[in-house]
Amino acid sequence: MSKITIGVLGFQGDIEENIAAVKQAIEQSKADATVQMVKYPQDMEKIDGLVLPGGESTVQSSLAAIQQSIPALKKRISDGMPVLGTCAGMIMLSKRSFDRVVGDTGQKLIGDLDIVIERNAFGRQNDSFEADLEVSGIGKEKFRGVFIRAPAVSEAGKDVEVISRYGGKIVAVKQGNIIGTAFHPELAGDARMHKQFLKMVQDYKKSR
Ligand code: GLN
Repeated sequence: MSKITIGVLGFQGDIEENIAAVKQAIEQSKADATVQMVKYPQDMEKIDGLVLPGGESTVQSSLAAIQQSIPALKKRISDGMPVLGTCAGMIMLSKRSFDRVVGDTGQKLIGDLDIVIERNAFGRQNDSFEADLEVSGIGKEKFRGVFIRAPAVSEAGKDVEVISRYGGKIVAVKQGNIIGTAFHPELAGDARMHKQFLKMVQDYKKSR
């Protein structure tokens, strides 16, 4: 198998933290892989998997739209390329998002993940918190969830597997090769989520 290239979408948010988490996953898995920041439509052709970082989804989607990167991204994701969206990244992947205070946020979304997102579902900046979560697929040990002005999934389509809940809300999902988390696994100092994603990328590459 030729070397795997993982991209981290580089418009805004915790890009460096995700690059570091992917590097840690690569090292721990002893995978023949590299990670690089990607932004432009032509970059999307050179990767085997993509991480969408947390940050501010309206900024990320506006910048991606200005660079005309959304159709290229969407094409790869629709073709089955594995993608991990953390927090704002999960919002970017969703088909619709709203905020209880401001209503429909009307932002440009990739739309391949069949979920509706409630933005800022746990409150605003002051309500950021950490919690130990059960997450299916990454082992029995609890995962430290870092929630920063986090969204939640308010509706999930029939092909969407709920992999974690917290406080009665859906906080992580999987649909085919797409994983979305409301929290920030790249800030947990625990590479299990990124390792699971890397494994999906390896399987995807093998199948092509
Ligand atoms: N509240 C942010 C948004 O709606 C997401 C926060 C985050 O990524 N930590 O884009």
